[in-house]
Amino acid sequence: MTKQTFAIIGLGRFGSSVCKTLVDGGAEVLVIDKSEAQINNYKKIATQAIIADAQDENTLKSIGIRNFDHVIVAIGEDIQASILVSLMVKELGVKHVTAKAQNKYHARVLEKLGVDKVVRPEREMGKRIGKGLLSENMLDYLNLSANIQVAEIKITKPSFANKDLAKLRFRNHYHLNVIAIKRNDDIIISPRADQKLLVNDSLLVVGKTADVDHFSQSMS
Ligand code: ADP
Repeated sequence: MTKQTFAIIGLGRFGSSVCKTLVDGGAEVLVIDKSEAQINNYKKIATQAIIADAQDENTLKSIGIRNFDHVIVAIGEDIQASILVSLMVKELGVKHVTAKAQNKYHARVLEKLGVDKVVRPEREMGKRIGKGLLSENMLDYLNLSANIQVAEIKITKPSFANKDLAKLRFRNHYHLNVIAIKRNDDIIISPRADQKLLVNDSLLVVGKTADVDHFSQSMS
């Protein structure tokens, strides 16, 4: 399998964190920033680091931006630059573009331009932290669609201990499917109906977000 290639435009907090994650994952990463200081910090980390203003279309062309599998527009505060650069990389034919939006209006414009994935990191992180605060037993979650989630929920109630999924009538009661059970370092995948639960097990469940919330709050 050939390595995926990424170009990150803008090395603020978001872009630099994406960069490190991709490099740690073994990907080839080109970074572009107009700030020499930022580029100097990433010369040894990224595969290639270029000082340039990405608003210059000729620069994007000479870098061969269209040859990258994925471009991440991580320009934060300068919304005008973010919009112009996103427009140009889409027009130059990049297949997968992810761009960071500062607010909902910025996000709407980026979506209209054909950006494939628009992210609002502060908002998404805020939601995630809020969920964790609402229920300490919701260890993690992933939205599969607008109202379907996979979530990891810790069993805290002694009334669940030593009862199996069938006896708890888990699916009927909570309208959730248990994909796996994490117990210490073990993972029981696709547990059978006669699988007994223990306190401190973590259940990986899939179902409607409202049902996931209901179950995790019932553990509080
Ligand atoms: P964050 O909120 O993720 O920290 P910032 O807005 O603070 O984002 O940082 C964005 C980065 O993008 C900065 O390092 C800035 O130098 C860079 N940047 C902004 N505009 C351009 C541009 N036109 N071309 C290249 N880099 C840019």
